[in-house]
Amino acid sequence: MQPTTKTPLSEDLRRLIGQPVSAIDTPSLVVDIDAMQRNLSRMAEFARKHDIRWRAHAKTHKSSALAKLAMQAGASGICVQKTSEAEAMAAGGVTQIFISNVVIAPQKLARVADLAHRLTVEHGQLAIAVDSVEGVRRLSQAMNERRNGGGAAVIDVYVELDVGQGRCGVTPGRQAVELALEVRKHPALRFAGLQAYHGKAQHMRTPAERRDAISVVVQDVLFTRKLIESEGVPVDLITGAGTGSMVCEAASGAFGELQPGSFLFMDGDYAANERDPAQPAFEHALFVKSQVVSSGVRHAVCDAGHKSHAVDSGLPTVLTVDETGELKYANGGDEHGILRPTGKNQRVPQIGDDIWLIPGHCDPTVNLHNHLVGVGGGLANGKVERIIRVDARGALT
Ligand code: PLP
Ligand code: MN
Repeated sequence: MQPTTKTPLSEDLRRLIGQPVSAIDTPSLVVDIDAMQRNLSRMAEFARKHDIRWRAHAKTHKSSALAKLAMQAGASGICVQKTSEAEAMAAGGVTQIFISNVVIAPQKLARVADLAHRLTVEHGQLAIAVDSVEGVRRLSQAMNERRNGGGAAVIDVYVELDVGQGRCGVTPGRQAVELALEVRKHPALRFAGLQAYHGKAQHMRTPAERRDAISVVVQDVLFTRKLIESEGVPVDLITGAGTGSMVCEAASGAFGELQPGSFLFMDGDYAANERDPAQPAFEHALFVKSQVVSSGVRHAVCDAGHKSHAVDSGLPTVLTVDETGELKYANGGDEHGILRPTGKNQRVPQIGDDIWLIPGHCDPTVNLHNHLVGVGGGLANGKVERIIRVDARGALT
């Protein structure tokens, strides 16, 4: 299924543009556009300072509009995790796309090959990761079948290393050499380098833990690059890193490209990381706007539950605004959140009070919503500036 990006926005949503924040119905996923732009500028400045490319990961927002915004800010392209995300980004006009994941099913690879051709026609480039000889052969077959229908697109292929996450990827060293040599046998594939992303390192809480984890990654990557180059095969680019560890990869001298996604919005899980002094001070830019619907002596209830935010990385935290004081969010099920005052101010919020939640994990939260409401001028007194469609919402194939 090809996700559609062209369904018109509803009348209600279009009418919201220009309205004050109070007009946003609840629960809604709201982006603080000014904070998001500052995050983009900080990312761009960081990359410039380290003379490194960044390919903003679109798995975070699944929106072609935000992908293009990152590219305007200086990103060299975007990453996606899924074939259907790549299609949605291309439909929205993005032409530099890296599927930073392995794809195996022939019916998906036919779509990958088709997209590789369409992007080439538009002077763009599709890239993909592989971690098996079988995967390389299937990709090559799909590209050749598409070539038989005309065109001569070449897809960039990165050999994925398992650098500690224990997910996809070949073991650094000999296996990676063999896979790189296999890629080189197929005319429709170009061996473009190595992907080395350490997912587990992103949320190690202290900078020292993250630094230790990535220093092992860097050794693995350098050793593997040397082995591949000793076969006369150039390794043009080493790509990887997320928001949590990127300062380490950027400083390593080994990586040529960073793939952070969450930096755009940030979330509760990233807020729990102790910040490395070298890390740009990314701000929360993604919130669930919710409202108190019931209020008692010791607790209140808001209208945002698991259906408005993902809970895999913990429950949301409540943004503190003056009148409401500090609040703790407790599980109220699918549609509700329980709010209890903590700290000095023991005021229980009242019916109709707005509650701003910071989701525990931004990426799967966005995937629960059809659109994001973009607010400019701050959450307190701002106005709705734009509606951002989540083009690849639910696009999982
Ligand atoms: N690269 C890959 C391969 C990923 O899987 C992810 C996230 O899971 C990222 C980059 C981006 O990480 P983050 O959103 O933590 O910045
Ligand atoms: Mn994530």
